[in-house]
Amino acid sequence: MASYDISPEVRAAISSFTLPEKLGFGLVNAPAMFRVDWADGAWGEGRLLPYDAIKLWPGARALQYAELVFEGMKAYRIHQPRPNVFRALDNCARLARSAKRLSMPEVPEPLFLQAVDALVGALADVIPQHSGQALYLRPFLFGTESGYMLRNSTTFSFMVIANPVEAYSTGAMRVAVERKDVRAAVGGVGEVKAGANYAASLRASSAASARNCNVALWLDAREQKYVQELSGMNVFAVLNGELHTPALDGAILPGITRDSLIALARHRGYVVRERAIAIDELLLQVGRGSCSEVFACGTAAIVSPISALVDQDGTEHVPKCIDVVAAELREALLSIQERRSEDLFGWIREVQPKVQLAGTTR
Ligand SMILES: *Cc1c(COP(=O)(O)O)cnc(C)c1O
Repeated sequence: MASYDISPEVRAAISSFTLPEKLGFGLVNAPAMFRVDWADGAWGEGRLLPYDAIKLWPGARALQYAELVFEGMKAYRIHQPRPNVFRALDNCARLARSAKRLSMPEVPEPLFLQAVDALVGALADVIPQHSGQALYLRPFLFGTESGYMLRNSTTFSFMVIANPVEAYSTGAMRVAVERKDVRAAVGGVGEVKAGANYAASLRASSAASARNCNVALWLDAREQKYVQELSGMNVFAVLNGELHTPALDGAILPGITRDSLIALARHRGYVVRERAIAIDELLLQVGRGSCSEVFACGTAAIVSPISALVDQDGTEHVPKCIDVVAAELREALLSIQERRSEDLFGWIREVQPKVQLAGTTR
């Protein structure tokens, strides 16, 4: 059997799956997943499997030492015969950088693309088809060897799981400026998508909720003076009509949405500046109105407006505009992702559907 043939078990799991009305973000698991294991210095054969719990040694280094890196990407199928993924090669390249930083084996590009194509092809008919909906893909690579010696595993798994999702939205976000904890320092793992970063961010996330905010805004680890990003999204400010975003400082995660918005905004005639943005300067400019709008971006929510920046002492800084430039850029990006407008930058990859479900009416 060829590696990516669809087994009767996988076919049965997909055929018996029905897409619920309410999808949320990550609440619904797609019925299939991809897995390939690394042992003896090489990748084995990849398999599509029914979505299920996995066996893992309790002492596995992924659990004990956070030897885990991941990606987040989306497949779309909005009134199209074939699904499409967005900037998959960039997710692949970033996963390779993340693996390298943790000295884990890289997932070669052909294997990564085969995994994505196999899973998206198999799940084509369970991709929700209303604008804003998508199949969220979560590729992840983790060390499976158990033991406490502080070195890498010698065995790894690379998996891709998927979730049919709505656009992740909490409405306009209230953002809590975090002036005590730090998420990531230059030289650490902040600029790669390693699970460890999110562990470091959890206390501030809880503190933000306690302050009636949706998310924490991180400052640089050295001086706690410059804006980095949110726990899982990059940030932009509209300053005197220009777009400003923190320059990648070696601890900020280089978001693919961030990169896409920079390209799209420039194409639409905006001046875009990547620079060090001091938090006190930003709050002052919001107060004066020269910063008219602040927003965040990432694969999950695409572009999220920010309604208030709440400082550690409780002071609220409210931008005069919410979701103006953000809405413009969100639609510009989404219309490319959903293939309603021209793929100006070669970001779209079509996938061949593999399982046709009888009588689907979605
Ligand atoms: C994933 C992530 C982002 C957004 O990256 P995208 O590629 O745009 O989804 C931003 N910041 C952090 C910390 C992230 O983990």
